[in-house]
Amino acid sequence: MIKTTGYAAHHAGAKLAPFEFEHRELGAHDILIEILYCGVCHSDVHQTRGEWGANIFPMVPGHEIVGSVSRVGAAVTRYKVGDFVGVGCMVDSCRECVSCHENLEQFCEEGFTATYNSLEREQGIPTRGGYANYIVVRDEFVLRIASNVDLARTAPLLCAGITTYSPMRQWNVGVGQKVAVIGLGGLGHMAVKLAAAFGAEVTLFTRSSAKQEDALRLGASKVVVSTDEAAMAAVQNQFDFILDTVSAPHDLNAHLRTLKRDGVMVMVGMSPDSMPVSPENLVMGRRILAGSLIGGIAETQEMLDFCGKHKITSDIELINIQDINHAYERMDKADVKYRFVINMGSLQTDKP
Ligand code: NAP
Ligand code: ZN
Ligand code: ZN
Repeated sequence: MIKTTGYAAHHAGAKLAPFEFEHRELGAHDILIEILYCGVCHSDVHQTRGEWGANIFPMVPGHEIVGSVSRVGAAVTRYKVGDFVGVGCMVDSCRECVSCHENLEQFCEEGFTATYNSLEREQGIPTRGGYANYIVVRDEFVLRIASNVDLARTAPLLCAGITTYSPMRQWNVGVGQKVAVIGLGGLGHMAVKLAAAFGAEVTLFTRSSAKQEDALRLGASKVVVSTDEAAMAAVQNQFDFILDTVSAPHDLNAHLRTLKRDGVMVMVGMSPDSMPVSPENLVMGRRILAGSLIGGIAETQEMLDFCGKHKITSDIELINIQDINHAYERMDKADVKYRFVINMGSLQTDKP
Protein backbone atom coordinates (compact mmCIF):
# COMPACT_ATOMS: atom_id res chain seq x y z
CA MET A 1 0.00 0.00 0.00
CA ILE A 2 1.14 3.54 -0.73
CA LYS A 3 1.03 6.02 2.14
CA THR A 4 -0.58 9.28 1.07
CA THR A 5 -1.28 12.64 2.68
CA GLY A 6 -4.13 14.89 1.69
CA TYR A 7 -7.05 17.00 2.84
CA ALA A 8 -10.47 15.46 3.43
CA ALA A 9 -13.98 16.34 4.51
CA HIS A 10 -14.61 13.90 7.36
CA HIS A 11 -18.39 14.21 7.13
CA ALA A 12 -20.91 16.10 4.99
CA GLY A 13 -20.34 19.83 5.33
CA ALA A 14 -17.19 19.49 7.44
CA LYS A 15 -14.30 21.83 6.85
CA LEU A 16 -11.47 20.10 4.97
CA ALA A 17 -8.64 18.99 7.23
CA PRO A 18 -5.39 16.96 6.94
CA PHE A 19 -5.93 13.22 6.39
CA GLU A 20 -3.54 10.28 6.00
CA PHE A 21 -4.62 7.29 3.91
CA GLU A 22 -3.30 4.56 1.63
CA HIS A 23 -3.63 3.95 -2.09
CA ARG A 24 -3.47 0.41 -3.49
CA GLU A 25 -0.05 -1.00 -4.38
CA LEU A 26 0.61 -0.74 -8.12
CA GLY A 27 -0.89 -3.46 -10.34
CA ALA A 28 0.60 -4.23 -13.76
CA HIS A 29 -1.45 -1.47 -15.47
CA ASP A 30 -1.23 1.14 -12.72
CA ILE A 31 0.68 4.40 -12.61
CA LEU A 32 1.76 6.22 -9.44
CA ILE A 33 1.46 9.96 -9.98
CA GLU A 34 2.99 12.64 -7.77
CA ILE A 35 0.36 15.40 -7.81
CA LEU A 36 1.76 18.87 -8.49
CA TYR A 37 -1.46 20.88 -9.00
CA CYS A 38 -5.16 20.26 -8.53
CA GLY A 39 -8.01 22.52 -9.64
CA VAL A 40 -11.00 23.20 -7.39
CA CYS A 41 -14.32 22.39 -9.09
CA HIS A 42 -17.75 23.32 -7.78
CA SER A 43 -18.48 19.57 -7.91
CA ASP A 44 -15.96 19.24 -5.04
CA VAL A 45 -18.05 21.72 -3.06
CA HIS A 46 -21.36 19.96 -3.86
CA GLN A 47 -20.00 16.53 -2.91
CA THR A 48 -18.12 17.42 0.27
CA ARG A 49 -21.36 19.01 1.46
CA GLY A 50 -23.35 15.90 0.58
CA GLU A 51 -25.55 17.84 -1.87
CA TRP A 52 -25.74 15.04 -4.46
CA GLY A 53 -26.96 12.09 -2.39
CA ALA A 54 -24.85 9.02 -1.48
CA ASN A 55 -21.31 9.80 -0.38
CA ILE A 56 -18.23 8.14 1.05
CA PHE A 57 -16.46 9.92 3.91
CA PRO A 58 -13.73 10.83 4.70
CA MET A 59 -13.73 12.35 1.20
CA VAL A 60 -10.56 13.64 -0.47
CA PRO A 61 -11.90 15.73 -3.37
CA GLY A 62 -10.13 16.88 -6.52
CA HIS A 63 -10.47 15.77 -10.14
CA GLU A 64 -8.42 18.33 -12.04
CA ILE A 65 -5.07 16.71 -11.45
CA VAL A 66 -1.72 17.41 -13.06
CA GLY A 67 1.41 15.65 -11.89
CA SER A 68 4.44 13.64 -12.87
CA VAL A 69 4.84 9.89 -13.16
CA SER A 70 6.69 8.47 -10.14
CA ARG A 71 6.48 4.74 -10.85
CA VAL A 72 4.77 2.46 -13.40
CA GLY A 73 3.40 -1.11 -13.28
CA ALA A 74 5.07 -3.88 -15.30
CA ALA A 75 2.60 -3.71 -18.23
CA VAL A 76 2.59 0.09 -18.66
CA THR A 77 4.17 1.12 -21.97
CA ARG A 78 2.63 4.52 -22.75
CA TYR A 79 4.18 6.45 -19.88
CA LYS A 80 7.54 6.55 -18.16
CA VAL A 81 8.88 8.04 -14.93
CA GLY A 82 9.05 11.85 -15.14
CA ASP A 83 6.32 12.29 -17.79
CA PHE A 84 3.78 15.03 -17.08
CA VAL A 85 0.28 13.58 -16.92
CA GLY A 86 -3.29 14.50 -16.04
CA VAL A 87 -6.25 12.79 -14.40
CA GLY A 88 -9.81 14.05 -14.68
CA CYS A 89 -13.10 12.86 -13.20
CA MET A 90 -12.73 9.14 -14.03
CA VAL A 91 -10.15 6.56 -12.98
CA ASP A 92 -11.81 3.42 -14.38
CA SER A 93 -14.91 1.95 -16.03
CA CYS A 94 -16.03 -1.56 -17.11
CA ARG A 95 -14.11 -1.09 -20.39
CA GLU A 96 -16.50 -3.58 -22.10
CA CYS A 97 -19.98 -2.09 -22.51
CA VAL A 98 -21.27 -0.29 -25.60
CA SER A 99 -20.53 3.17 -24.15
CA CYS A 100 -17.00 2.17 -23.13
CA HIS A 101 -16.39 0.74 -26.63
CA GLU A 102 -17.61 4.04 -28.11
CA ASN A 103 -15.08 5.99 -25.99
CA LEU A 104 -17.88 7.36 -23.82
CA GLU A 105 -16.66 5.90 -20.52
CA GLN A 106 -18.56 8.62 -18.65
CA PHE A 107 -21.76 6.79 -19.64
CA CYS A 108 -20.43 3.29 -18.76
CA GLU A 109 -23.41 1.01 -18.18
CA GLU A 110 -21.91 -0.16 -14.89
CA GLY A 111 -21.19 3.43 -13.87
CA PHE A 112 -17.69 4.86 -14.23
CA THR A 113 -15.34 4.83 -11.27
CA ALA A 114 -15.04 8.43 -10.14
CA THR A 115 -11.66 9.84 -9.13
CA TYR A 116 -13.04 10.29 -5.60
CA ASN A 117 -16.23 9.45 -3.74
CA SER A 118 -16.44 6.09 -5.52
CA LEU A 119 -15.29 2.50 -4.95
CA GLU A 120 -12.40 0.94 -6.85
CA ARG A 121 -13.60 -1.84 -9.15
CA GLU A 122 -11.21 -4.58 -7.98
CA GLN A 123 -10.43 -3.99 -4.31
CA GLY A 124 -13.60 -2.11 -3.41
CA ILE A 125 -11.75 0.51 -1.40
CA PRO A 126 -12.81 4.18 -1.64
CA THR A 127 -11.18 6.26 -4.35
CA ARG A 128 -9.52 9.44 -3.11
CA GLY A 129 -8.87 12.47 -5.28
CA GLY A 130 -6.36 15.14 -6.06
CA TYR A 131 -6.13 17.21 -2.86
CA ALA A 132 -3.23 14.90 -1.96
CA ASN A 133 0.40 14.18 -2.77
CA TYR A 134 -0.16 10.94 -4.72
CA ILE A 135 -2.76 9.04 -6.75
CA VAL A 136 -2.72 5.58 -8.36
CA VAL A 137 -4.56 5.33 -11.70
CA ARG A 138 -4.87 2.69 -14.47
CA ASP A 139 -2.90 3.74 -17.53
CA GLU A 140 -5.95 3.94 -19.87
CA PHE A 141 -7.37 6.74 -17.69
CA VAL A 142 -4.19 8.82 -17.58
CA LEU A 143 -3.89 11.78 -19.99
CA ARG A 144 -0.73 13.07 -21.59
CA ILE A 145 0.28 16.67 -20.77
CA ALA A 146 2.78 18.41 -23.05
CA SER A 147 6.03 19.40 -21.34
CA ASN A 148 5.90 23.01 -22.61
CA VAL A 149 2.58 24.08 -21.04
CA ASP A 150 1.91 25.96 -17.78
CA LEU A 151 1.01 22.99 -15.58
CA ALA A 152 -1.01 24.92 -12.97
CA ARG A 153 -3.12 26.67 -15.61
CA THR A 154 -3.62 23.36 -17.43
CA ALA A 155 -5.05 21.48 -14.43
CA PRO A 156 -8.60 22.94 -14.78
CA LEU A 157 -8.82 21.63 -18.33
CA LEU A 158 -9.19 18.12 -16.89
CA CYS A 159 -12.76 18.90 -15.78
CA ALA A 160 -13.82 22.49 -16.61
CA GLY A 161 -12.13 22.20 -20.02
CA ILE A 162 -13.55 18.88 -21.16
CA THR A 163 -17.02 19.55 -19.70
CA THR A 164 -17.39 22.64 -21.87
CA TYR A 165 -15.49 21.32 -24.93
CA SER A 166 -17.52 18.12 -25.28
CA PRO A 167 -21.04 19.58 -25.67
CA MET A 168 -19.76 22.24 -28.07
CA ARG A 169 -18.25 19.50 -30.23
CA GLN A 170 -21.38 17.33 -29.90
CA TRP A 171 -23.59 20.19 -31.14
CA ASN A 172 -21.09 21.47 -33.76
CA VAL A 173 -20.48 24.94 -32.36
CA GLY A 174 -18.51 26.94 -34.90
CA VAL A 175 -18.09 29.90 -37.21
CA GLY A 176 -21.23 31.93 -37.94
CA GLN A 177 -23.02 30.80 -34.78
CA LYS A 178 -24.27 32.90 -31.91
CA VAL A 179 -23.38 31.18 -28.65
CA ALA A 180 -24.22 32.20 -25.09
CA VAL A 181 -22.65 31.00 -21.86
CA ILE A 182 -24.54 31.30 -18.55
CA GLY A 183 -22.36 32.01 -15.50
CA LEU A 184 -18.73 33.17 -15.43
CA GLY A 185 -17.08 30.72 -13.04
CA GLY A 186 -14.63 27.88 -13.67
CA LEU A 187 -16.67 26.15 -16.38
CA GLY A 188 -18.12 29.37 -17.76
CA HIS A 189 -14.79 31.08 -18.38
CA MET A 190 -13.47 27.98 -20.20
CA ALA A 191 -16.68 27.88 -22.25
CA VAL A 192 -16.20 31.51 -23.32
CA LYS A 193 -12.59 30.83 -24.36
CA LEU A 194 -13.43 27.62 -26.22
CA ALA A 195 -16.51 28.96 -28.03
CA ALA A 196 -14.43 31.93 -29.21
CA ALA A 197 -11.67 29.55 -30.34
CA PHE A 198 -14.27 27.57 -32.35
CA GLY A 199 -15.10 30.82 -34.15
CA ALA A 200 -18.52 31.53 -32.63
CA GLU A 201 -19.79 34.97 -31.58
CA VAL A 202 -20.02 34.71 -27.79
CA THR A 203 -22.38 36.39 -25.32
CA LEU A 204 -22.08 35.98 -21.56
CA PHE A 205 -25.11 35.86 -19.26
CA THR A 206 -24.07 36.78 -15.73
CA ARG A 207 -25.62 38.15 -12.55
CA SER A 208 -22.34 39.92 -11.81
CA SER A 209 -22.07 43.10 -13.90
CA ALA A 210 -18.56 43.55 -12.48
CA LYS A 211 -17.44 40.58 -14.60
CA GLN A 212 -18.19 42.41 -17.87
CA GLU A 213 -14.63 43.56 -18.60
CA ASP A 214 -13.18 40.11 -17.90
CA ALA A 215 -15.75 38.44 -20.15
CA LEU A 216 -14.74 40.66 -23.06
CA ARG A 217 -11.06 39.94 -22.42
CA LEU A 218 -11.77 36.18 -22.32
CA GLY A 219 -13.41 36.25 -25.77
CA ALA A 220 -17.04 37.35 -25.38
CA SER A 221 -18.28 40.15 -27.61
CA LYS A 222 -21.31 40.98 -25.48
CA VAL A 223 -22.44 40.69 -21.84
CA VAL A 224 -26.08 40.53 -20.69
CA VAL A 225 -26.87 40.94 -17.00
CA SER A 226 -29.40 38.16 -16.46
CA THR A 227 -31.16 39.88 -13.56
CA ASP A 228 -32.10 42.78 -15.88
CA GLU A 229 -35.49 41.83 -17.35
CA ALA A 230 -35.38 44.42 -20.11
CA ALA A 231 -31.90 43.29 -21.18
CA MET A 232 -33.12 39.65 -21.26
CA ALA A 233 -36.22 40.60 -23.30
CA ALA A 234 -33.99 42.41 -25.79
CA VAL A 235 -32.10 39.22 -26.67
CA GLN A 236 -35.04 36.84 -27.24
CA ASN A 237 -34.75 34.40 -30.20
CA GLN A 238 -31.05 35.16 -30.73
CA PHE A 239 -28.87 32.18 -29.94
CA ASP A 240 -28.04 28.94 -31.77
CA PHE A 241 -26.51 27.38 -28.68
CA ILE A 242 -26.42 28.13 -24.94
CA LEU A 243 -24.23 26.41 -22.36
CA ASP A 244 -25.64 26.66 -18.84
CA THR A 245 -22.84 26.33 -16.25
CA VAL A 246 -24.72 27.60 -13.18
CA SER A 247 -24.28 25.69 -9.91
CA ALA A 248 -27.54 26.77 -8.20
CA PRO A 249 -31.23 27.11 -9.13
CA HIS A 250 -31.99 29.90 -11.61
CA ASP A 251 -34.61 30.91 -14.17
CA LEU A 252 -34.29 28.47 -17.08
CA ASN A 253 -37.33 29.85 -18.89
CA ALA A 254 -35.88 33.33 -19.27
CA HIS A 255 -32.79 31.82 -20.91
CA LEU A 256 -34.73 29.34 -23.11
CA ARG A 257 -36.61 32.25 -24.64
CA THR A 258 -33.29 33.64 -25.94
CA LEU A 259 -32.77 30.58 -28.17
CA LYS A 260 -33.58 30.78 -31.89
CA ARG A 261 -35.89 28.27 -33.57
CA ASP A 262 -34.21 24.85 -33.26
CA GLY A 263 -31.67 26.32 -30.87
CA VAL A 264 -30.09 24.10 -28.21
CA MET A 265 -29.49 24.81 -24.54
CA VAL A 266 -27.18 22.31 -22.82
CA MET A 267 -27.11 22.02 -19.02
CA VAL A 268 -23.75 21.18 -17.50
CA GLY A 269 -24.30 22.97 -14.18
CA MET A 270 -25.63 20.56 -11.57
CA SER A 271 -27.82 22.49 -9.19
CA PRO A 272 -28.86 20.14 -6.38
CA ASP A 273 -32.43 21.53 -6.66
CA SER A 274 -34.84 21.20 -9.61
CA MET A 275 -35.95 24.14 -11.73
CA PRO A 276 -39.27 24.53 -13.55
CA VAL A 277 -39.36 24.50 -17.37
CA SER A 278 -42.45 25.82 -19.13
CA PRO A 279 -43.30 23.58 -22.14
CA GLU A 280 -44.26 26.71 -24.03
CA ASN A 281 -40.62 27.79 -24.18
CA LEU A 282 -39.65 24.52 -25.89
CA VAL A 283 -42.75 24.04 -28.07
CA MET A 284 -42.73 27.54 -29.52
CA GLY A 285 -39.58 27.53 -31.62
CA ARG A 286 -38.96 23.75 -31.46
CA ARG A 287 -36.16 24.44 -28.98
CA ILE A 288 -34.04 21.68 -27.46
CA LEU A 289 -33.01 21.39 -23.79
CA ALA A 290 -30.19 18.86 -23.32
CA GLY A 291 -27.48 17.82 -20.86
CA SER A 292 -23.85 16.77 -21.01
CA LEU A 293 -21.45 14.95 -18.67
CA ILE A 294 -17.68 15.63 -18.77
CA GLY A 295 -16.26 13.80 -21.84
CA GLY A 296 -14.64 10.44 -22.68
CA ILE A 297 -10.93 9.82 -22.23
CA ALA A 298 -10.10 10.04 -25.96
CA GLU A 299 -12.02 13.30 -26.27
CA THR A 300 -10.25 14.66 -23.16
CA GLN A 301 -6.91 14.01 -24.86
CA GLU A 302 -8.23 15.66 -28.02
CA MET A 303 -9.27 18.72 -25.94
CA LEU A 304 -5.85 18.93 -24.23
CA ASP A 305 -4.14 18.79 -27.63
CA PHE A 306 -6.56 21.41 -29.03
CA CYS A 307 -5.86 23.72 -26.06
CA GLY A 308 -2.11 23.16 -26.44
CA LYS A 309 -2.30 24.10 -30.12
CA HIS A 310 -4.45 27.19 -29.51
CA LYS A 311 -2.58 28.18 -26.31
CA ILE A 312 -5.74 27.95 -24.20
CA THR A 313 -5.34 27.56 -20.44
CA SER A 314 -7.42 28.51 -17.43
CA ASP A 315 -7.24 31.87 -15.62
CA ILE A 316 -6.33 30.80 -12.11
CA GLU A 317 -5.71 31.88 -8.54
CA LEU A 318 -2.97 29.63 -7.18
CA ILE A 319 -3.56 28.76 -3.52
CA ASN A 320 -1.99 26.64 -0.79
CA ILE A 321 -3.96 23.64 0.47
CA GLN A 322 -4.30 25.37 3.86
CA ASP A 323 -6.49 28.01 2.11
CA ILE A 324 -9.00 25.51 0.72
CA ASN A 325 -11.87 26.25 3.12
CA HIS A 326 -11.59 29.96 2.39
CA ALA A 327 -11.62 29.17 -1.34
CA TYR A 328 -14.91 27.25 -0.93
CA GLU A 329 -16.42 30.27 0.87
CA ARG A 330 -15.39 32.51 -2.01
CA MET A 331 -16.92 30.08 -4.54
CA ASP A 332 -20.21 30.35 -2.62
CA LYS A 333 -20.13 34.05 -3.45
CA ALA A 334 -19.16 33.45 -7.13
CA ASP A 335 -15.93 35.27 -6.23
CA VAL A 336 -13.21 33.40 -8.10
CA LYS A 337 -11.11 34.51 -11.05
CA TYR A 338 -11.72 32.05 -12.51
CA ARG A 339 -10.47 28.80 -11.02
CA PHE A 340 -8.67 28.08 -7.77
CA VAL A 341 -5.75 25.72 -8.30
CA ILE A 342 -3.96 24.17 -5.33
CA ASN A 343 -0.17 24.12 -5.36
CA MET A 344 0.23 20.66 -3.86
CA GLY A 345 3.79 21.39 -2.73
CA SER A 346 2.11 23.36 0.08
CA LEU A 347 1.07 20.06 1.73
CA GLN A 348 4.63 19.71 3.03
CA THR A 349 4.33 22.78 5.22
CA ASP A 350 1.81 20.86 7.37
CA LYS A 351 4.56 18.42 8.41
CA PRO A 352 5.97 19.01 11.92
P1 NAP B 1 -18.22 28.02 -10.13
O1 NAP B 1 -16.81 28.28 -10.56
O2 NAP B 1 -18.57 28.17 -8.70
O3 NAP B 1 -19.16 28.95 -11.06
C1 NAP B 1 -20.55 28.89 -11.04
C2 NAP B 1 -21.09 30.21 -11.60
O4 NAP B 1 -22.52 30.11 -11.63
C3 NAP B 1 -20.82 31.42 -10.74
O5 NAP B 1 -19.57 31.99 -11.02
C4 NAP B 1 -21.95 32.35 -11.07
O6 NAP B 1 -21.66 33.09 -12.24
C5 NAP B 1 -23.09 31.39 -11.40
N1 NAP B 1 -24.03 31.26 -10.28
C6 NAP B 1 -23.79 30.78 -9.04
N2 NAP B 1 -24.91 30.80 -8.29
C7 NAP B 1 -25.88 31.28 -9.08
C8 NAP B 1 -27.27 31.53 -8.90
N3 NAP B 1 -27.86 31.30 -7.71
N4 NAP B 1 -27.98 32.04 -9.94
C9 NAP B 1 -27.37 32.30 -11.10
N5 NAP B 1 -26.06 32.09 -11.33
C10 NAP B 1 -25.33 31.59 -10.34
O7 NAP B 1 -18.66 26.53 -10.54
P2 NAP B 1 -18.04 25.53 -11.65
O8 NAP B 1 -16.90 24.79 -11.05
O9 NAP B 1 -17.88 26.26 -12.91
O10 NAP B 1 -19.23 24.47 -11.76
C11 NAP B 1 -20.50 24.88 -12.23
C12 NAP B 1 -21.50 23.74 -12.11
O11 NAP B 1 -21.16 22.72 -13.07
C13 NAP B 1 -21.52 23.03 -10.76
O12 NAP B 1 -22.86 22.70 -10.45
C14 NAP B 1 -20.71 21.77 -11.01
O13 NAP B 1 -21.03 20.71 -10.14
C15 NAP B 1 -21.14 21.46 -12.41
N6 NAP B 1 -20.24 20.56 -13.17
C16 NAP B 1 -20.82 19.70 -14.04
C17 NAP B 1 -20.03 18.88 -14.81
C18 NAP B 1 -20.66 17.97 -15.82
O14 NAP B 1 -20.00 17.04 -16.29
N7 NAP B 1 -21.88 18.23 -16.23
C19 NAP B 1 -18.64 18.92 -14.68
C20 NAP B 1 -18.09 19.84 -13.78
C21 NAP B 1 -18.88 20.67 -13.02
P3 NAP B 1 -21.97 34.67 -12.38
O15 NAP B 1 -21.30 35.36 -11.22
O16 NAP B 1 -21.38 35.01 -13.70
O17 NAP B 1 -23.47 34.83 -12.38
ZN1 ZN C 1 -15.39 19.01 -11.94
ZN1 ZN D 1 -18.62 0.35 -19.49
